[in-house]
Amino acid sequence: MRYAETGFNLEIDLSRGSIDKVESDPRDTERYLGGLGTNAKILWDRVPPEVEPFSPENLLIFSAGLLCGTPAVGCNRTIVTTVSPQTRFMAFSMMGGFWAPELKYAGYDKVVLRGKSPDLVYLWIHNDKVEIRDASHLHGKGAVETGELIRQELKEPNAQVAAIGLAGESRVYFASIEQGRSSASRGGLGAVMGDKGLKAIAVRGTKDVYVARPVEYMDLCNQVLDYIKWRNENPIPGVMPILAGLGSPQEMRVHDEKWHTENFMWGNSRVRRKGFWTEEVEKSWTDALESMRTRLISCYNCPMKCGATISPPGLSTYMMKCFSKLTYTMAAFSDLEFGLSIAQRATEYGVDAFSSPQVMAFALELYADGILSDSDFSGMPSDNEGRFYWLLDRIVRREGIGDILADGTYWAAKRIAKGAEAYAHNTIKKHEQLPLKLSMLNPIYFLMYATGEKINITQIEGQFPQMPFPTREQREEFVKDWFQVPDEKFKQYFLDWELRGENSFPYYPTPEMCCDIVDWQEKMHYIDDALGMCAGLSSFPLKPPYHIHNYPKFLSAGSGIEFDEAKLSEAVKRYRTLVRANNVRRGMRREDDKPPENHWKKRFPELEKKLLDTYYAFKGWNEQGIPTRESLNELGLDYVYDDFEKRGVYENNGGKPPADSPAEDGKEV
Ligand code: SF4
Repeated sequence: MRYAETGFNLEIDLSRGSIDKVESDPRDTERYLGGLGTNAKILWDRVPPEVEPFSPENLLIFSAGLLCGTPAVGCNRTIVTTVSPQTRFMAFSMMGGFWAPELKYAGYDKVVLRGKSPDLVYLWIHNDKVEIRDASHLHGKGAVETGELIRQELKEPNAQVAAIGLAGESRVYFASIEQGRSSASRGGLGAVMGDKGLKAIAVRGTKDVYVARPVEYMDLCNQVLDYIKWRNENPIPGVMPILAGLGSPQEMRVHDEKWHTENFMWGNSRVRRKGFWTEEVEKSWTDALESMRTRLISCYNCPMKCGATISPPGLSTYMMKCFSKLTYTMAAFSDLEFGLSIAQRATEYGVDAFSSPQVMAFALELYADGILSDSDFSGMPSDNEGRFYWLLDRIVRREGIGDILADGTYWAAKRIAKGAEAYAHNTIKKHEQLPLKLSMLNPIYFLMYATGEKINITQIEGQFPQMPFPTREQREEFVKDWFQVPDEKFKQYFLDWELRGENSFPYYPTPEMCCDIVDWQEKMHYIDDALGMCAGLSSFPLKPPYHIHNYPKFLSAGSGIEFDEAKLSEAVKRYRTLVRANNVRRGMRREDDKPPENHWKKRFPELEKKLLDTYYAFKGWNEQGIPTRESLNELGLDYVYDDFEKRGVYENNGGKPPADSPAEDGKEV
């Protein structure tokens, strides 16, 4: 009997049209948990580095987290994994909503897709009945619209549908997969789905998911619920509101956007607008949000209501949460009414709300500076907002300049040349980042930006405050009930951290302390991604209900496999290393581990080198960021070492495959 997981994956070959229900190996659960962990193992076993992102051999894996479908509050994440056409590394983006629990109730932990369908199709999973169905009538339909049409066609109003829009069909490198109340946006997963000829996966399940020790498990769940209630009534004093409570940043509730609009950058991540936030702006933006926000919504089994349904006048309703509220507005130097309206079209097209506004602002900056010319923008409206709509329409159809921009700023700049590369200034590992430009180097964030393989800072930060508190008294107050720390030393790191003087940035926290802090933060995110937990209740807030001390209890009572903190930490280290190994095999090296050059004004090359050296050693990686033989052996990853040896990965940096050509080169025609 398998607990928490179903023990079965669906293996779908879209070239052959075959569907197989395959039992998974329970030993893998103990070693890699589920979700991201077992996805990384499957990718390692079956997708060698010779496989291009748009090859039929590339896999697209939809995985429910290990604890999804159990009563664990907020445990609803689907982890989608593939080789990204944009970064050419392993992509693993998460989506909330309802899809993952539904898959578990249908009797499966993962859907593993390979091959390519010659015609557009969708997958219909209804308990034991699984069909590949014609989707030719859905060609070009919006992602949210597709979900609705499929539910009507199937006469299954409760089916959960993950779908791509036109962007995915056109293989736009920053195409997302949308799913009613959430989306998996980073890494271009939607492009791979479109390349496979798969428009959507609809799922409906009515079976049970079992937990090993139900009474104990329910008690743990109730403790979490009690804590959520208490924390919601008692936000942490002295920290910015988005970190003081729980859930993802409550952007759909807040009206005061002074902090984002004055500290984040506008346009192509270039311009800071101090003094932007006036009473008039606040009133007009409040009116815009109040008039379009129809209701606040939650993901499956969660009371937090982080998202909202947005209904712009004359347009269909879509879901929004987090910083997407501001990305289009700020890229276009416009207002919230514009931002909420264009996001409706962008959601239906299915594009990443972080990357796509930046790509469009990048194009207009190149135009303003004469690197792109009138002929590239023939027919473009003259007003700013109109230009964004015009560009978006062309990108998702890959028409004209849109075809170049559809590859994202890094690849577009290479194709445009004429100095355009200097304008693609806000990427890490070829992927657009949050529009933030700061002054003094932050050594903790330096490491996170440089080495985070989820390639999105919000998906690695959390747990440890971003800045020191001004006074010792405030810090002492903060650490009093900080029971989430894995070790008491973190309290001391924080207590001694000053805004100025010896114990301040960039030399404090020391490199050794930074390693501990980054490792803790990363570990929590990786646990969430394997269990299917929302980061908003675990790895992102400062004092969350899920933490390293109660997670082993959830795992043990849920799966029936006994875990303590040490065993859980070792499993995380194992699959985190496996993610690294997948990427090393694809050519990731030290030169890739860096933040955008202009992220901080004040840089310290020697310190940065020391930080990276210390972190690599801490992780058991060599000076190139490659896991060493010893560390692989310790984790039982000898098969990784053998593969590295066979490929000459350790010798003279050998085995580094060329990664400087766009994914189109690998296109099967
Ligand atoms: S905390 Fe927010 S984003 Fe997370 S599961 Fe709950 S509603 Fe969804």
